[in-house]
Amino acid sequence: MHVLVVGAGIIGVTTAFELRQRGVEVTVLDRRPGVAQEASYANAGVISVAYARPWAQPGMPRKVLASLWRRQSALIFRPTLDAAQWRWLARWLGECRLERFRRNKQRMQRLAEYSRAVLHELRRRHAIDYEQRQGWLQLFRSAADIEATKPSIELLAEAGMPHRLLDAAACRVLEPALIDATPLAGGLHLPEEETGNCAYFARRIKDFAAQAGVAFRFETAVTGLRLEGGRVVAARTAIGDVTADAVVLAAGADSARLLRGTGVKLPLYPVKGYSLTVPISRFEFAPMVSVMDEAFKVAITRMGNRLRVAGAAEIGNRKLALRDTALGMLLRVARDWFPGAAAYAQARTWVGARPMLPDGPPVLGPTAVANLFLNLGHGSTGWSMACGSARLVADLVAGRPPQIDLEGLTVERFARASP
Ligand SMILES: Cc1cc2nc3c(=O)[nH]c(=O)nc-3n(C[C@H](O)[C@H](O)[C@H](O)COP(=O)(O)OP(=O)(O)OC[C@H]3O[C@@H](n4cnc5c(N)ncnc54)[C@H](O)[C@@H]3O)c2cc1C
Repeated sequence: MHVLVVGAGIIGVTTAFELRQRGVEVTVLDRRPGVAQEASYANAGVISVAYARPWAQPGMPRKVLASLWRRQSALIFRPTLDAAQWRWLARWLGECRLERFRRNKQRMQRLAEYSRAVLHELRRRHAIDYEQRQGWLQLFRSAADIEATKPSIELLAEAGMPHRLLDAAACRVLEPALIDATPLAGGLHLPEEETGNCAYFARRIKDFAAQAGVAFRFETAVTGLRLEGGRVVAARTAIGDVTADAVVLAAGADSARLLRGTGVKLPLYPVKGYSLTVPISRFEFAPMVSVMDEAFKVAITRMGNRLRVAGAAEIGNRKLALRDTALGMLLRVARDWFPGAAAYAQARTWVGARPMLPDGPPVLGPTAVANLFLNLGHGSTGWSMACGSARLVADLVAGRPPQIDLEGLTVERFARASP
């Protein structure tokens, strides 16, 4: 069987690798010159189970609206004339109810937990170095921030996830590089959360996949899928059709466009985010533990001899243009906590599009088109869910039973009127 994987982000690359492990002949098509050059390129690097939760949650609609009047905000809402944005928002609003949030979160955590186990297995088997680090510290600037996080802390306790609420002094013992001048009310330490460089990992997995026989065709933009007799027979590209027995679509935020004409409709929309990658200049002032500033939702992750500062969520147009106010917020937060750590003037700036579905979990596996499979819509947690999603989809393509329950993770939830 010859399978085409469309997209060589973290999701497509891991999928191609897993398919090859099952003896399948695989070709990967991507419009970029290499792997992980879009959303997977410079993300925050967090591999989270505890924080694998939907963006749709109680209180968020108010924050999204408030962002219309704020200049600098973790959330940025810019209305457009794109009907897909409004359809997405309408469904997203329905998912912000507490019972929906809890259900969607459980679905995401089931997948994130499995994914972390698969990642650990791959790391052991292949000795992959991707600048990984253990532990995660969420910083609260005020008592109000701690109060607002209480419901999430209760959920962590309910799920039996290791965590410790720390006062400011204990935070500074755990991470001595945090400066005193910035007010700190406390922190939440999650020892089992991890961070790592997603693009590095993708490149290593690509090398293993290529050595095992996966063919990668870069600078090959797919313009659509050709169907005959209710089956996909080829992917259309500028240099002709590429035929296959089955197709796995893993094209990130562009996937909905490629589904046109297949009858499969998904409310996928890009939610943009930004990052800075900065060389560390004074190692004694740089954090060892990765931190998240809860007030601004900005993550600061140590990756080798660099700091990655990432955040902001923008529901706007589809153009990947850098937004100065968002980058300014990242810079401000990094300087608030670690002013002397890095050469901030040399920061490399980046914007990426999270492929986001309104309810939170991705869509995995088969569709109404017999040989068309999906692995997409991972939103803000694609790195955390990549290895597990890839293994599940590869099992389904190869006709093997998936290792975890797929309830709420397939396209079926969008086929019904009220999921
Ligand atoms: C600022 C930011 C911070 C983030 N932080 C985290 C984090 O800490 N932890 C976490 O788990 N996740 C994080 N994410 C989310 C994560 O990065 C994404 O969920 C993940 O990268 C999605 O992977 P993907 O492979 O689906 O998409 P992509 O990486 O975008 O890959 C899609 C691929 O498809 C290709 N493609 C698209 N259209 C076509 C076409 N027509 N023809 C050919 N090829 C095509 C693209 O070139 C690309 O290579 C973050 C995202 C952002 C933006």
